[in-house]
Amino acid sequence: MEVEQLVLGGERVPAVGEKTSALIEPATGKIFVEVAEAGAEDVERAVRVAYQTFEESSWSRLSATGRGRILLKAATLLRERLERMAIIEARNAGKPIRDARDEVALAAAVFEYWGGAANKIMGETIPVQDNGLEMTLREPVGVCALITPWNFPLVIASWKIAPALACGNTVIVKPAQLTPLSVLLLADILMEAGLPSGVISVLPGPGAAVGNALVRHALVSKVSFTGSTEVGAQIMRLCADNITRVSLELGGKAANIVFADADLQRCVNASVFAVFGNCGQDCCARSRLLVQRSVYESFVELFKARTVALRVGQPLNEQTEIGPLISAGQRQRSLDYLALAQQEGAEVVVGGGMPSDSDGYFLQPTILTQVDNRMRVAQEEIFGPVVGIIPFESEEEAIRLANDVAYGLSGSVWTQNLGRAIRVAKGVRAGVLSVNSNHSVHTEAPFGGYKKSGFGREMGMHAVQLYTEVKSIFFSQE
Ligand code: NAD
Repeated sequence: MEVEQLVLGGERVPAVGEKTSALIEPATGKIFVEVAEAGAEDVERAVRVAYQTFEESSWSRLSATGRGRILLKAATLLRERLERMAIIEARNAGKPIRDARDEVALAAAVFEYWGGAANKIMGETIPVQDNGLEMTLREPVGVCALITPWNFPLVIASWKIAPALACGNTVIVKPAQLTPLSVLLLADILMEAGLPSGVISVLPGPGAAVGNALVRHALVSKVSFTGSTEVGAQIMRLCADNITRVSLELGGKAANIVFADADLQRCVNASVFAVFGNCGQDCCARSRLLVQRSVYESFVELFKARTVALRVGQPLNEQTEIGPLISAGQRQRSLDYLALAQQEGAEVVVGGGMPSDSDGYFLQPTILTQVDNRMRVAQEEIFGPVVGIIPFESEEEAIRLANDVAYGLSGSVWTQNLGRAIRVAKGVRAGVLSVNSNHSVHTEAPFGGYKKSGFGREMGMHAVQLYTEVKSIFFSQE
């Protein structure tokens, strides 16, 4: 079987120890490709190359417009290869092919945004009291370690790589061990688009070895991490040793708040995908559905009917809406939560089963009722196709329940009352919210969490703050 090699120093190379690991296709449970597995020596090499490249300034001193052109070219190449990339992502991550196409197109849009933004990253002139001119420069931070999860492998990597490069940094990407393929191909595309060698490396491998070694390295100036809150806390501690800059996008337990005056059918049609899309493996999954009591029963019936109609199946089938979970372990995690939910007194009213005719990691979208917000199933991130529907009486109670979790990443409000929409959107402590929509993530707008969902804002021009230092310079006029 052919081996997908590391990207290091502008080329594809085997790991120093020539170690490889097998990737399993979630929809079949079978091995479909071997990938080089980086170790500590590869991290050392990659960091040295990235540091030297940064010091030589071949990238940061290229004009901002020149950097932007390369990112725009990469976006064009991504669009040209959209179908091939989408098939690889669908097989590797178990995504329905239509979602995978959307994600490759989204990654291309992210590179277009930063291709255009590169020469709009600027400093200020500031009227100070002394006689002269005070100005600021936005300078790249240096070597950035970008650590990403397996749920949206290409998109989340793009959110980090594109702004980091636009700002003039060199980057080392540590993709999730289960899903490195699309990021390796993205690095090939960037190099083909003209990225100088040494500006990007991609090191697939286990987090505890590769990720950890990267984070601890004294020549890494910035760590951008997306993943679980538990690992995020470990990374933050490690970053303290070298005062390494860090931003964290972590877990979520979002509330989808439905008021009695909402357009219920429209809300249901969107809300099934807000929680079951990507098989529930979404940090923004609206896994707590808070529904006003006067419409609770009718809402549950509509939601059940729409959930049962979802097409669960093979990722490469054009009709499929929900694919498998990423791994046997991830499915077991959901099953354990379902058992726990029932012990806590919740009731499974739809789903919970696994198809007997497939070795893939499928699990039917599952609805829980009789859920109290204090139950573990309502407090903890399941990261699977499971939703709990919880009734509430008043606007105040809805806000209180929405905020009564450790996380604060996203959420939605459904109502036709504008004043209520504004009050609730202001009252919910989360970084991204949507009103009468399940779309709260946009390439052009800031994205990130409150509370244990992390800190720092990716996307939009806010991301410039993550990947630049501000230098203040005073010129005397005397
Ligand atoms: P994870 O925390 O297990 O791993 C994330 C990445 O960190 C992987 O590349 C992993 O190999 C690496 N890693 C693991 N241990 C490490 C260590 N000790 N040092 C350095 N790196 C290490 O998360 P996951 O299981 O891949 O992804 C699911 C989690 O990601 C969920 O909690 C989900 O909510 C979160 N997530 C958050 C966002 C967001 O934007 N807020 C987006 C997607 C996923």
